[in-house]
Amino acid sequence: MNASKHIALIAHDNRKLDMLDWVRFNRETLEGHELYATGTTGGLIEDELGLPVTRFLSGPLGGDQQVGAGIAEGRLDVVFFFWDPLEPQAHDVDVKALLRIAVVHDCPIACNRATADFLLSSPLMRGQYDQLDAPVSITA
Ligand code: PGA
Repeated sequence: MNASKHIALIAHDNRKLDMLDWVRFNRETLEGHELYATGTTGGLIEDELGLPVTRFLSGPLGGDQQVGAGIAEGRLDVVFFFWDPLEPQAHDVDVKALLRIAVVHDCPIACNRATADFLLSSPLMRGQYDQLDAPVSITA
């Protein structure tokens, strides 16, 4: 990972205001990176905050899977994923797949505000970082 990271932003509907608020607060830091997002989340960030975002499909239509593919193929470095722990989602299986693939590929992923704050303020966000070469392997 280089100093400028490829960052994916995803927020479920009940977490979108939280995500917008977090991005607004951290705007200056996030401007130093390349931003990607699922469709609706990315649209909100562009419209409300004027930040350039490369948008994937909406999450329920495949956006979460696109983020997962980006992680697996090494195109995305860090994920901020504000998922909703209180409501079932039509695409719950995609959510689970994304969380799984992030762990497999040793991808930093923050799922709540506090973790997002800790991750974004890490000095590692501003420098080179070498992840594990290979996806995690299962050993007995
Ligand atoms: P959205 O997708 O940004 O298109 O709403 C997020 C999600 O539900 O995973």
